[in-house]
Amino acid sequence: MLTQFQSVGRALFTQGLVFSHGGNLSIKLGEHLVITHRGSTLGFIQEGDLVETGISKNNRVTPLASKELEIHRCIYRNTSASAVVHAHPPYAVALSFTESEIVPCDLEGQVLLSRVPVLGRDAVARLDDLAGEIARLLHEYRVVLVRGHGTFAVSQLLEEAYYYTSALEQSCRLLYLLKTMGMTPR
Ligand SMILES: [Zn+2]
Repeated sequence: MLTQFQSVGRALFTQGLVFSHGGNLSIKLGEHLVITHRGSTLGFIQEGDLVETGISKNNRVTPLASKELEIHRCIYRNTSASAVVHAHPPYAVALSFTESEIVPCDLEGQVLLSRVPVLGRDAVARLDDLAGEIARLLHEYRVVLVRGHGTFAVSQLLEEAYYYTSALEQSCRLLYLLKTMGMTPR
């Protein structure tokens, strides 16, 4: 299990989808979840960087979990997801300021994601206030984008949720380039 977290954390970091101490990862294990430690660096995950706590119940180590624990819990309580990747991909976040949804124009993005909703009215919306809406949208979509903040991607496997995050960033990079060339992708 540690190796899954390490390989996905390292991939997110080396691709610039998270920086330094940003982002968090979790997987569901029955009534529990394993999530990255508060303030951990995803590019360099060690065994002590993983915290196992309840999806509904706290335990002794709950305070050590990522500060976005409540969003991960809300997603597991309300969807069939078994893995969650939260990242801060820069092109996706940049487009979140101007778009209300991302519609990929490249084939991979279209096949994998179809479309990605952008939520949060402004960049200062508190993430915890959006937990219910994030979980509700993740019934229907594989990834959601929180305005001015980042992405939440779900799947049965951490590796797959990472793939969706990476595909969204690739689509957003292309959309950004087309915009700067003065072209409309549709
Ligand atoms: Zn974040």
